[in-house]
Amino acid sequence: MRRLSLLLVVACIWAAGIWSVAGPSAVTAEGETVYVVQVGDGLTAIARKFGTTVPKLVELNRLMTTVLQPGQMLKVPNPAGVIANATSPAIAPAAGGSKATAYMVKKGDTLFKIATRAGISVAALQAANGLSGTNIRAGQRMMIPGVAAVAAAIPTVAMPAVAVATVVVAAPPTAAPAPTTAPAHSAAPVPTTAAAVAAAPAAAPAAAAHSSAVHWAYLGDSGPTRWGSLSPDYKVCDSGIEQSPIDVVNPLKMGLTDILFKYAATPGKIINNGHTIQVNFAAGNGNTIVVDGILHELLQFHFHAPSEHTIAGASFAMELHLVHKNAGGGLAVVGVLLQSGAASAGLAPVLTSVPTDVDVAHDLPAPVDLMQLLPADRRAYRYPGSLTTPPCSEGVRWILLTTPMDLDTAQIAAYTKVYTGTNRPPQPRGVRFLLQDTSATK
Ligand SMILES: [Zn+2]
Repeated sequence: MRRLSLLLVVACIWAAGIWSVAGPSAVTAEGETVYVVQVGDGLTAIARKFGTTVPKLVELNRLMTTVLQPGQMLKVPNPAGVIANATSPAIAPAAGGSKATAYMVKKGDTLFKIATRAGISVAALQAANGLSGTNIRAGQRMMIPGVAAVAAAIPTVAMPAVAVATVVVAAPPTAAPAPTTAPAHSAAPVPTTAAAVAAAPAAAPAAAAHSSAVHWAYLGDSGPTRWGSLSPDYKVCDSGIEQSPIDVVNPLKMGLTDILFKYAATPGKIINNGHTIQVNFAAGNGNTIVVDGILHELLQFHFHAPSEHTIAGASFAMELHLVHKNAGGGLAVVGVLLQSGAASAGLAPVLTSVPTDVDVAHDLPAPVDLMQLLPADRRAYRYPGSLTTPPCSEGVRWILLTTPMDLDTAQIAAYTKVYTGTNRPPQPRGVRFLLQDTSATK
């Protein structure tokens, strides 16, 4: 430890020398000034240091968590190109360290991008490859030093357009057949019936059949605190670190890109799946949202009572979840808090035909006018989370609309006489960012 500290001090002194001569070389090829996070650095301190705000840093760096890793490169708004400490090798993994990985430069790559992905500094990357500048070309072979070995092997991932998008878009590495593609409530209780599988949206049958093998519930021995131990497939319910729902408190307020809703009146099939009442839509139904620049198609919507998300501890009568999937299998769920008030015209065809027979799909008496399920103000809280039911798969983009919608008491009763207490309790938020869109009303 003492040796490490000494090394750091020596390296810092050396780096300080470099700064005095290096001038604006810390300005990356992208014209951004970068800052290498030091041990003990916090976002607030860094923001203050560069005369900016935490939201601005979050936006610039598409940060997902409040935790910074020493050695991490942060873009800082610094148009003058005033030097940060980007050339400091103090905390970069030693070039030629334990292991190095070969990497083929791809079109669109910059040194900064590769270093960021690999979790090392640009300086370390330059040192390992004998580069004096920042020019690289597609097809060029580079060595990624030290601890970066694993990260370097990760193929180029397009950065999402908005901060909240999760970096982990890929399906979790479980043996289960693509659990992330399973809609939140596709799992039928034991036993799986042909009807349930038939009613599950396209692409879901395999996952539904698979995950339905183990029964789970909201109460007792199979209740939420036990989900993680009910099946190896549900392990992430316990071990996950980005679980949903959460209590919405102290969100980071910032302007976010609009979520584009393209919803229309659509026929659907209603099913009581043993956990909730769900309305499934056929594949290619044309109802989509664009979030983080990615098109997601609506699979289904379903209810919880009381609400799963709470706002500063306050619960709502119900919560509607509209589950969407993108071409890569990633899920985006739009949550709408439902409170007692006027009747919902949009939900009328649904809540007048709640089935009591389990796992039997019924045609809705009328198409659902999906736009009527949304408030006029579609600004939202956003955070990276999970399915709120087993298998609790993470990598879900959560969009919780800030404005609740009304249901009348008869509509609430139509659901709660069949299901009540269908809410997983709020999960630890951990180091995740919770964003609140505060851009002009949309
Ligand atoms: Zn749900």
